[in-house]
Amino acid sequence: MVRLVCVKLCVLVGGVGGAKFLMGARELLGTDTPGSPHTIDAVVNIGDDAWMHGLRICPDLDTCMYTLGGGIDTERGWGHKGETWNAKEELAAYGVQPDWFGLGDRDIATHLVRTQMLDAGYSLTDVTAALCTRWKPGVTLLPVSDDRSETHVVVSDPAHADAPKRAIHFQEWWVRHRAEIPTESFTHIGAEQATPSQQVLDAIAGADAIVFAPSNPIVSIGAILAIPGVRAALRQAKAPIVGISPIIGGAPLRGMADRCLEVSGIETSASAVARWYGSRSGAGLLDAWLVAPGDHAAVDGVDVREAPLLMTTPELTSTMVATALESVGCAP
Ligand code: GDP
Ligand code: CA
Repeated sequence: MVRLVCVKLCVLVGGVGGAKFLMGARELLGTDTPGSPHTIDAVVNIGDDAWMHGLRICPDLDTCMYTLGGGIDTERGWGHKGETWNAKEELAAYGVQPDWFGLGDRDIATHLVRTQMLDAGYSLTDVTAALCTRWKPGVTLLPVSDDRSETHVVVSDPAHADAPKRAIHFQEWWVRHRAEIPTESFTHIGAEQATPSQQVLDAIAGADAIVFAPSNPIVSIGAILAIPGVRAALRQAKAPIVGISPIIGGAPLRGMADRCLEVSGIETSASAVARWYGSRSGAGLLDAWLVAPGDHAAVDGVDVREAPLLMTTPELTSTMVATALESVGCAP
């Protein structure tokens, strides 16, 4: 075990699962305390981002920022605590679409600041850093790219069998349809033209350890990996890569990872997700993989370990993060 005086941790995250992981990582490394020698760079999914009523919405970045900044509604798991919905009611009174997206009044302030800064020419990375001067998350939140890459879902309409297939935004699929419509595949629109930000490439190249949080493998981590250049950067990184299973006992903890895996033709199991990420000694990405007690995974070249994977409190999660780091020979 190498004990590092300063750990540079790089974590790939989505929204709720990613934010819970980051709470544990921050608890372990104390990166919210002035003078901490350690750093955490979070490479955040932008696939859920969308325009709504002229505002730029970044759900996963905001979930991470609000959670780490103490502003999250812990019951809902997203959005501000103490939220009110006056603007949403007014928009509904005008009958404007989309009417299915929960835009809270407090949340709108975040989107206004972001949209104004983007309009003024700042990159999403810079805008996120500016928003974080208020929330002080104790980690560096890095959108994977400053370009647009939005997850869309190819769906068919069972009521009109001859209607052409269409791709709807992931938000519409999930929030409006609750993932309950005939679904063919996911696609990341804009990904091909997008590039990872220099900050993201530097975070990956400079890390001592890289972790895939137990985020949705398809629409969170998968959407990050869809940006050309990210996969290559990870494979070339000097740091080992460890992933944590979001699937425990054959089911996700919450959310729709099972539905996303099913649509992608992947079994909902800790083992199948690890095989899908693949081993870095082969053509994939993982050096190690944590599964919950009683779960199994066998992937050539991947060191699989069992550990409690419930992120119930930051303290319990910090133990899980420590185990993940130990599995790749790194300890703070
Ligand atoms: P989203 O963007 O809000 O959907 O959040 P993420 O993609 O970051 O995380 C969603 C994933 O987190 C789901 O697939 C859950 O199974 C997983 N998850 C949530 N809570 C836990 C937990 O306590 N332990 C583990 N291992 N996974 C969890
Ligand atoms: Ca998300």
